[in-house]
Amino acid sequence: MTTFPPEPLPRIALVATGGTIAGAGTESEGKEAHSAAYRAALVDAGELMARVPQLARLAHLQAEQLLQIDSADFTDDKLLMLARRVSELCARDDVDAVVVTHGTDTMEESAYFLHLTVKSPKPIVFTGSMRPGTALAADGPANLLHAVAVAAHPSSSQRGVLVVMNEEIHSARDVTKVHSMHLDAFASPYGPLGLVVEGLPRWYRALPRPHTAQSEFDITTLDALPLVGMVASHGNMRAEIFDSWVQVGARAIVHAGFGGGTVPAYLHDHFTALRERGVWLVRASRTGAGPVIRNANAPDDAHGWIVTDDQNPPRARLLAALALTRTTDAALAQEMFYRY
Ligand code: ASP
Repeated sequence: MTTFPPEPLPRIALVATGGTIAGAGTESEGKEAHSAAYRAALVDAGELMARVPQLARLAHLQAEQLLQIDSADFTDDKLLMLARRVSELCARDDVDAVVVTHGTDTMEESAYFLHLTVKSPKPIVFTGSMRPGTALAADGPANLLHAVAVAAHPSSSQRGVLVVMNEEIHSARDVTKVHSMHLDAFASPYGPLGLVVEGLPRWYRALPRPHTAQSEFDITTLDALPLVGMVASHGNMRAEIFDSWVQVGARAIVHAGFGGGTVPAYLHDHFTALRERGVWLVRASRTGAGPVIRNANAPDDAHGWIVTDDQNPPRARLLAALALTRTTDAALAQEMFYRY
């Protein structure tokens, strides 16, 4: 086994964006010890680092505060900003890896976007926390330490963007926040890629799909992402809801449908009309796991619809937006859903 940490110590850029890991209960509210009563995005990057002195043994860290927001407030312009900044850092000779601190609520979306757009083999690791630093058993310090340990380890390169939370290492392609409160809030349908064991990454599986340097998506010349909306179905839907997305400029709509991605029969004609106007209809599942199978419970070929394969609806939105930067052909976009 190679010595860890390597000598000289790796140089890691820490990009802070806010979230609960930068959150705090406020004394005036008397809520310091509680884990749910706090404000996100208060503590800056330097302070986050200072709380974990063990970091200095693993890497030379350079911290920067790119954003200071609750991750619910990530809009596409901020996502592009983050992807561009991480790309710039990865391109530098004096940066060996990047760690991004981020709110947990939309971490799976931002991490996936970078997974498909940052052209670098260097480790890129997202982390955050479920509890603010002022909680009695805050999880942020250990998560940050583990994220830096994973980023610093040579075995973490060329694995795409990773999400390190609660001693697990997940692929940004697969991971989803599955609990609103527990520390064990992140899960991947096929399990994590690895674990952090005694401070070191230990890998159990590899990701077979392309990412980062192998991805075809190029954001360097993009001013904005094509607009894609998502609508989750429930009983008693209204067709007009889908029109609202088109009226504000959406070029694709991800439908989080029932079970295997079922679209209610009473919406089929409306979807066909939208499709005739050039809008992509992407069939996803609201179940949280499992593939949507083409032509299985809807005539996708006849309608010109796209299925997500196994991608969850929020990430399907991002993949559809990136696909729209390459093509207007729904059949080609379908291939991208199978490829990525
Ligand atoms: N609302 C927070 C955020 O996503 C939650 C967290 O970070 O855990 O920014």
